[in-house]
Amino acid sequence: MQVDALAVAIGNAHGLYHVEPHLRFDVLNQIGGKVPVPLVLHGGTGISETDFKKCIQFGIRKINVATATFNSVEYAVQDLCRKRPEAGYFDLQEAEIGGAYENIKRHIMMFGSAGRAKMGSLRKKGQEANQ
Ligand SMILES: [Zn+2]
Repeated sequence: MQVDALAVAIGNAHGLYHVEPHLRFDVLNQIGGKVPVPLVLHGGTGISETDFKKCIQFGIRKINVATATFNSVEYAVQDLCRKRPEAGYFDLQEAEIGGAYENIKRHIMMFGSAGRAKMGSLRKKGQEANQ
């Protein structure tokens, strides 16, 4: 069986943390030293910028922040409805996309990933798919 990436459990959890999570970087460091594939962190919502950077330092290459995105979308839609109760389907859709975009951009900046995507490989994949 091929494993492409490994999701670790180092004190992280889905949803909102009730107290600041205490991540086990010692365990993450050990896993990173033994496993040849990229590591994944679920439950990224609420983890500090400092801890994100430490996770990346120890081999985390994918971080899930779904709850933060859900919250950001909800907030954007609720804000729109407060300001413009007459807002229609497309307005709501735009608010949802804007809410998700803002949250993802904020996290990309925190991770230090801005401008690092290799567009070449994505474009090549797209061209192959169209052939
Ligand atoms: Zn998850």
